[in-house]
Parts: sequence; structure tokens; C-alpha cells
Amino acid sequence: MGWIEGRVAARRAWTETHISLGIEADLPVFEPGQFVRLGLDIDGETVGRPYSLVNPPGAGLLEVYFDVVPGGPLSPRLAALAPGDRLRVGSAPYGFMVLSELPEGRDLWLLATGTGVGPFVSILESQAAWGRFENLRLVHGVRRASELAYRDRLLAMEERHGGRFRYLPFVTREACDFALPGRIPAAIGDGRLAAWAGLPLDPRHARLMLCGNPGMVAGALEALAPAGFRRHRRREPGQILLEEYWSEDRAG
Ligand SMILES: Cc1cc2nc3c(=O)[nH]c(=O)nc-3n(C[C@H](O)[C@H](O)[C@H](O)COP(=O)(O)OP(=O)(O)OC[C@H]3O[C@@H](n4cnc5c(N)ncnc54)[C@H](O)[C@@H]3O)c2cc1C
Repeated sequence: MGWIEGRVAARRAWTETHISLGIEADLPVFEPGQFVRLGLDIDGETVGRPYSLVNPPGAGLLEVYFDVVPGGPLSPRLAALAPGDRLRVGSAPYGFMVLSELPEGRDLWLLATGTGVGPFVSILESQAAWGRFENLRLVHGVRRASELAYRDRLLAMEERHGGRFRYLPFVTREACDFALPGRIPAAIGDGRLAAWAGLPLDPRHARLMLCGNPGMVAGALEALAPAGFRRHRRREPGQILLEEYWSEDRAG
């Protein structure tokens, strides 16, 4: 895979370890939900990792949102970049957690943990989702309320779209008066999520995307299975697409 040159044009630190970068790069057209590789030359080698795009297609800058994995080869160095710094950007976007892969339905449920909210911002800021789905719900689980990145944009979206869209944050490690406590899979299992969303999780109507922590993804799949939900594959249609940001066996 080839690289193209990118230049950091904007940086926002949501917390000390949760960073968004705006990057100038000439990337071919992508579909909301896809990711690109970002790379830096470290000790004579290019170290690259995938990052979901937060911006909708056609926006001026590419935007990524990531957290620092302590001791990780790339993320601490990406976090240290400042406007004007150069980096490598993979020459093509990838990924199948996109609307064009999702079967028709009435309700779109986007379930994220942590930085997994990024691709859902891209999806919600593009037109296709609003044309295809009647009801849209974004569920975002984080440890602390300060990690609810993009909250203002999502609340503004809620206001613009009236009852069609609800933004539903979960905060696990501190009390928060506008979020639910606890974990997303548990709230699916005991019916709290559907009640809060004002929408049943019904496999006849609901289409889901799951993104972020593999523990949440596995837990949500398990909690959804009794109602008849399953992962969508081209040869085996279902209702759920997903993207895991790291692998289950190292999820900790
Ligand atoms: C398709 C895809 C899209 C991704 N998009 C994003 C994104 O938009 N934003 C983002 O923050 N990350 C994203 N990631 C993860 C990202 O590619 C890197 O793995 C992460 O930034 C850490 O990079 P690193 O080189 O510092 O450490 P790595 O060598 O990649 O990882 C070190 C260890 O940490 C684990 N790990 C990776 N990411 C995390 C994390 N966020 N929290 C806890 N443990 C982790 C890894 O499994 C590994 O055990 C994505 C991963 C995939 C597969």
C-alpha cells in the first residue's frame, strides 16, 4: 500500500489523552464509516495504524479522533504532533462499516465506545443516513464525561432533527446527570437502552453499527442475539455491522 503526504492543520485536545487532528491530504473519495492508515517514520521505519475518518466526504480536512495508548508505538507520537507537522496518510480508504453494506431498515442504531464515535459523526454528518432511515440513535459509552467528544455537534444535530435523532451517552466511572451509568450491553439486555431511546430494538426494523472496544462489541452482540439479531455478512444477511479497534484477546 502506498502513502501520500499529509500535514497537520488543526489539533484539538478533548482531554490530555484524547486528541483530534485535522489533516490536509489529497485522499480519494471515501464512504462515511471508513478508515485510513496514518504513519510516521520512527527509527528508520514507517509505523502505520488505521484510524476512522470523522469528517464527512467533501469536507476540507481529514479528521481523526484517537486516544493515547500508553507505550503504544504510534498513538503517543501522533498525539504530540502540532499544526504544520507532516505525517504519512495511506493512499486509499478502507472498511466495510458503511451504509452501503447495511441492509434496508427503518431505524439506524450507532453504538460506540470511546474513540469509536468518530466514524458515526462522519455518517451522521452525511446526507445518506437521513435519507434512508426514519429514526436514528447514537449511543456513546465513555469512562468520564470529558471523553464525550463531539457532544456539542451531536446535541445540535438532535435539535435540528427533532425527535428523529437521539444522542444517548453512557458514562461508567463518574456520576453524570445527562448520561446513563453502566455499560451498553447491560442496558441492551435489561431493556434500559430501548426505554431511554424511546424506540424498541426490533430486528425487523433496527439496523446497527458497533464500533470501538471489542468487549463492548462482543457484549452487545451477545445481548442482541436473543431478540434475533446477528452480524450481517454478504452471504449471510443480518442486521449488524461492526469495527473493532483492537483484538479481543488483548482487550483486557
Ligand atoms: C479498523 C480500525 C480503525 C481504528 N480507528 C481508530 C480510531 O479512529 N481512533 C483510535 O483511537 N484508534 C483507532 N484504531 C486503533 C489504532 O489503529 C491503534 O491501534 C491505536 O491508536 C494504538 O496505536 P499504537 O501504535 O500506539 O499501539 P498499538 O500497537 O496499535 O496497540 C498497542 C496495544 O493497545 C491495544 N489498543 C489499541 N487501541 C487501543 C485503544 N484505543 N484503547 C486501548 N487499547 C488499545 C492494542 O490491541 C495493543 O494491544 C483503529 C483500529 C482499527 C483496526
